Amino acid sequence: MKVLYVCTELFPLLKTGGLGDVSGALPPALRDAGCDVRVLLPGFPPIRSGVGPSRLPRSYPLQLPAGQGPRVEDLGLSEPPVVHPATLPGSGLAAYVLEARALFDRPGNPYLDTHGDNGIRFALLAWSAACIGHGLDPHWQPDVLHCHDWHTGLAPLYLRQMAMPGPPPAASVFTIHNLAYQGIFPDSLFGQLGLPEYLFGIDGIEFWGQVSFMKAGLQAADRITTVSPAYAREILEPEQGCGLDGLLRARSAVVSGILNGVDYEVWNPSRDGVLMHPYDWDSLAGKVKAKAQLQRRMGLQVRRDAMVFGVVSRLTEQKGLHLVEALTDELVSMGAQLAVLGAGDIPLEQAFLRAAARHPGRIAVDIGYDESLAHAIMGGADVIMVPSRFEPCGLTQLYGLRYGALPLVHRVGGLADTVVDASAQNLEAGFATGFIFDEYTVQGLRTALHRALRLYAQPPAWARVQQIAMRQRFDWGEAAAQYTSLYRSLKPDAAHA
Ligand code: ADP
Repeated sequence: MKVLYVCTELFPLLKTGGLGDVSGALPPALRDAGCDVRVLLPGFPPIRSGVGPSRLPRSYPLQLPAGQGPRVEDLGLSEPPVVHPATLPGSGLAAYVLEARALFDRPGNPYLDTHGDNGIRFALLAWSAACIGHGLDPHWQPDVLHCHDWHTGLAPLYLRQMAMPGPPPAASVFTIHNLAYQGIFPDSLFGQLGLPEYLFGIDGIEFWGQVSFMKAGLQAADRITTVSPAYAREILEPEQGCGLDGLLRARSAVVSGILNGVDYEVWNPSRDGVLMHPYDWDSLAGKVKAKAQLQRRMGLQVRRDAMVFGVVSRLTEQKGLHLVEALTDELVSMGAQLAVLGAGDIPLEQAFLRAAARHPGRIAVDIGYDESLAHAIMGGADVIMVPSRFEPCGLTQLYGLRYGALPLVHRVGGLADTVVDASAQNLEAGFATGFIFDEYTVQGLRTALHRALRLYAQPPAWARVQQIAMRQRFDWGEAAAQYTSLYRSLKPDAAHA
């Protein structure tokens, strides 16, 4: 089974969030599950400089025939775009890097639309995926294109259009990592995409008078997946469907949820290079030292008895952190500490910084992106807070489980699928792994906080829950097996790798 995995970020080369972690771990897991996987990435600077040379000798110039695919005159390129073979560091997987310097060789966040050309540059990425699907590399033609999030949404559509009128040579799977980010562009973009007029309509990729790349993926892919079973159900309803729930309901027979996993090579307290004193469920003394290490690093009072609440997150409305911010003074008055790492909405950043200024030594806030500090917080925190309004899967609660930083989460999406609430019944049965609240309000979060504080006051009970949490497994092998059987349902005759 040959699989082309198409994405825009991949840990450790480039990561802005969960998609980077997924793309770093899932392709090698698919290989281990028996797939012949290659990854297609746009040539952002950290990707170009991070990949290794390929054993494959050839590069492939992209064809841009008039009337099909992105219009060449709108790309603003002095040289034709080329797909270069490369090798991913670590996994050694084969990759293709789409080189179009004027479009991708830019500093900063890869999704910033600084030149107002995000539509056309991600259309080119999708076009290159479809070309590979149609045999651009004559030595390796995929059976399946596995596309991720809106940046790749046009790929399943181009794949179909290129094959008109017959069936496309490769099947397509489109995975939604976050339905809220849709890749919506002005209607004027449509004319630049090389798609037939009839596709600019409600049954095509038009969305309230604009162009939606997410909708293109949802319309054209053979299968749609998302990253947890609960989110797969939630997006069929208006509340979480972001305006696309009608289309998703119409396609519900091909929608499913496959839970993300954890890369336990990267997130593992027993051999985490950031922690001076590694630990595991049978050596929790190291966790006490990790707490002191975190407190020193972030300028918190070094106190073993202070319960430390941690946050590692994008600071956006989705993540529900305004609820945490509203409780900062209360947390401190209860003797707890708060360690926040994140960046995003300026008002929320400033509100957290003000809370830190009010409570020096008790609240520490680091505005920015810091992979090493993220590990230190998982190691040092007693509780990791993920009170998201919606959460397709969520990875930080899974990391919290592995590090014995018990997750405190809103009962939604992947959070509901992965955390077991410390109710009296679950505690007694030995199932509890964290704290869940239902009501998405400050009061809802407060009640869960109080429950966490009460359990923390009983060290043996707390340690028991920590040990159960740390033993949970969310293996990529399991997810890879599910994706592989999905691919096989589309291409039953594809050869085994
Ligand atoms: P999302 O993809 O919605 O941001 P996830 O929970 O799926 O949320 O994944 C977030 C990933 O990004 C995790 O690996 C988390 O550790 C990381 N992360 C988020 N914010 C930061 C930050 N400020 N610094 C370092 N890592 C961060």
